[in-house]
Amino acid sequence: MALIVQKYGGSSVGNLDRIHHVAEKVIKAKLEGHHVIVVVSAMYGETDRLIGLANALTQNHDPREYDVLISSGEQVSMALLSMALNAKNCPARSFTGPQIGIYTDSIHTKARILEVKTDIIQRELQQGRIVIVAGFQGVNEYGDITTLGRGGSDTTAVAIAAAVKADECQIYTDVDGVYTTDPHMLPEARLIPQISFEEMLEMSSLGAKVLQMRSVELASKHNMPIRVLSTFSDGSGTLVTFEDKIMHKRLVSGIAFSREEAIISLSGIPRRIGVEGLILGKVSQANIEIDMIAQNASLEGKSDFTFTVQRREYPKALKIIEELAAELGAVTVKTNSKVAKLSLVGIGMRSHTGVASTMFKALGTEGINIQMITTSEIKISVVLDEDHLEKGVRAVHQAFELDKPHQTVEQSFFE
Ligand code: ADP
Ligand code: ASP
Ligand code: MG
Repeated sequence: MALIVQKYGGSSVGNLDRIHHVAEKVIKAKLEGHHVIVVVSAMYGETDRLIGLANALTQNHDPREYDVLISSGEQVSMALLSMALNAKNCPARSFTGPQIGIYTDSIHTKARILEVKTDIIQRELQQGRIVIVAGFQGVNEYGDITTLGRGGSDTTAVAIAAAVKADECQIYTDVDGVYTTDPHMLPEARLIPQISFEEMLEMSSLGAKVLQMRSVELASKHNMPIRVLSTFSDGSGTLVTFEDKIMHKRLVSGIAFSREEAIISLSGIPRRIGVEGLILGKVSQANIEIDMIAQNASLEGKSDFTFTVQRREYPKALKIIEELAAELGAVTVKTNSKVAKLSLVGIGMRSHTGVASTMFKALGTEGINIQMITTSEIKISVVLDEDHLEKGVRAVHQAFELDKPHQTVEQSFFE
């Protein structure tokens, strides 16, 4: 008998037929003799609908009330799934995050889980019931409901799995597992049978929303492998685990992308010590996250400074920069708010040169202009025009033969 946590995403519980289908899958696991804890997301589109309501009402919403509102979708699906299970004579009980005891910090809309209580879960499992928990939510020290950021039900599932020391944490979704890139963009993308936490963390943070980044972080911290599976078809999906457990290593594993980027560039800044800190300081004081940064010295003691922000924060960032440019004098501000970020991820990059040149050549052959570049040990990101994104993903995918059957790279290669 194993203790299994299963998480079902929004499309998996998107209508009543699908909820019936999920109930059958849960019953199957129970009949195999397992204890099952289920984490559910809101029905497909529901969280967006609730966010739309809040925004239509006011742009200046109270974060506490906003979380009360947007956490409510999960309460609907947890109750419906519980009803479906009970109607099929499978005893089940549903609980919200606060009811179960998922304690978080107080950062509304992107709270972090601090503690997960397990007493109610254990009590219910011992009574032979399926425990259903609403994903994406918790409670802070003041008793206020918090939410965990978009895609946060993945993190609820991993946090519960770690707290109860589950044998498996299964994330059921609308694709068969983690692919070499988003299969909805590139049909030739291939399923990755195993991927390291480190690579998955990069993929998630660079835009692959199949797993929320924090869920991967938490899983690696608590030594809790995640299996990503399809709700709608059978298969062994993708195992996200430690690098030394990966049997077939590859030079590069996948391509992640994000469309929601914008570039802001200041040129002709009179060079003086500390000017970079001044620019970044003003932007980060407004709680705007800066992603990529590039600087180059131009003629006559002037320099250019370019950075990217998320597109939704672009208007706010631009306003700050325009004010600052006026203060600094003789500075021109150029922007491009229709850019995307394409990132190549792979642990093989650590020990292998030539990955960047192959990537840039593939983009160049397609006539794609690279506007910015950043690298880290296991990833290379480039910024390009949003219109070129799909073509760029396809070109890089082909250049690294990610559409071909999995070819293992020699073990010695990684040492
Ligand atoms: P859920 O509602 O089940 O949480 P999400 O929409 O959050 O599902 O995540 C699944 C989606 O992630 C897929 O439908 C797919 O479009 C997208 N995705 C992005 N990158 C990848 C990738 N590399 N592999 C698989 N899916 C990906
Ligand atoms: N319902 C939430 C969202 O849409 C959480 C989740 O789906 O994981 O972001
Ligand atoms: Mg999700």
